[in-house]
Amino acid sequence: MNHGDVPPGLYRGRRVIVIGGGNVAFDVARTARRLEGDVTVLCLENEDKSSKDGIPADVEEIEGATQEGIDIVYSRGVAEVVSEEGSFKKLRLVRCTSVFDDDGRFNPRFDPNDVTYLEGDVLLIAIGQGPERTFFQHEGLLNDKGRLDVDPLTLMSNRRKGVFIGGDARRIGFAMEAMSDGLAAAESIDRYITGEDLKAGRGKEFERAAIPNSSSYKAQPPLSWAPVDERLNFEPYEKPFTLEEVVEEARRCLSCGPCLGCKGCVALNLQPEIREIQLSRDRCSGCGICVGLCPYDAIGWDESGEKRVASIDMLKCKRCGVCVAACPSGAISIEDELPQSVEGVCASL
Ligand SMILES: Cc1cc2nc3c(=O)[nH]c(=O)nc-3n(C[C@H](O)[C@H](O)[C@H](O)COP(=O)(O)OP(=O)(O)OC[C@H]3O[C@@H](n4cnc5c(N)ncnc54)[C@H](O)[C@@H]3O)c2cc1C
Repeated sequence: MNHGDVPPGLYRGRRVIVIGGGNVAFDVARTARRLEGDVTVLCLENEDKSSKDGIPADVEEIEGATQEGIDIVYSRGVAEVVSEEGSFKKLRLVRCTSVFDDDGRFNPRFDPNDVTYLEGDVLLIAIGQGPERTFFQHEGLLNDKGRLDVDPLTLMSNRRKGVFIGGDARRIGFAMEAMSDGLAAAESIDRYITGEDLKAGRGKEFERAAIPNSSSYKAQPPLSWAPVDERLNFEPYEKPFTLEEVVEEARRCLSCGPCLGCKGCVALNLQPEIREIQLSRDRCSGCGICVGLCPYDAIGWDESGEKRVASIDMLKCKRCGVCVAACPSGAISIEDELPQSVEGVCASL
């Protein structure tokens, strides 16, 4: 589609069946719908997204597709593709009774006696493709559990030196992760060729911290979509923000669009690490200087104990260091040493 090679109205008057329940299947189905097909999505999963066997596609995709007239058939697996004179005719479907086993492994179970048929003219399969595993096996790259055995830091195979594995081949994910893997693998390959240590200086071990609850998190304005009869084409259909909303969004970024500590910047080597701001309740005198100074409105009061002390909302905190520099009691610190940002703040005060 993106290459412009597909004629408009390709599926006009044709029944298109898309097999799959993920975002890709919905991408495909909604594209087929825009090519004027009469589209049905068929998946193993049920419609209760909160259940272990729930459909994996995002709510927005399901909602958008349904609005656009796409039917979804849940909890069915393909037992047979029936063709006539070399052309696809229909699917024989059996009920899928469960998708994942108790260990969370993909292991669909079916009731072979519960059979239905779904007729169509075009069959599009979007069930998640993977690399040819017999090749991996043949090259001795798999571990005992049948997974690719890769060092997560260097992306070199633990089984064969000089083989580097990343992106969707290693773990189905997002474009950003594939790019990050590309950077890491390129660095490793360069070191490997020049005989350097693959790991030296690259350790980014960290423990993921729970995202703190924010008392006053400000959500983005809701997005609105063009009505269905105006959006069955390939133009963007999410209505852009108004000028007022753009200004409001920009302000949100400055004041409460928080650093979530996702460590994306660390993964991409833009930052050596994210340092946590720490506040000692014992040392805090409750003077409130930090509360007034914080440019991100991230510091409030904690009045749950015997004395009133400052409290940092980590969701809003951008670790700028202003509070560290300003605190007269030395109650606020950034882990370990004083980073440059704090030295800069101290110098400017
Ligand atoms: C329909 C769809 C929608 C998606 N939407 C999003 C999205 O909105 N946001 C997002 O972040 N991610 C999205 N993704 C996921 C994202 O595209 C992938 O995570 C990412 O492209 C993976 O990058 P990769 O380099 O690992 O693999 P790929 O992009 O698949 O690249 C692998 C390349 O290797 C080539 N290749 C294969 N075999 C050989 C061989 N033997 N010799 C030489 N070359 C070979 C292939 O031709 C291909 O060019 C989507 C994926 C799909 C399919």
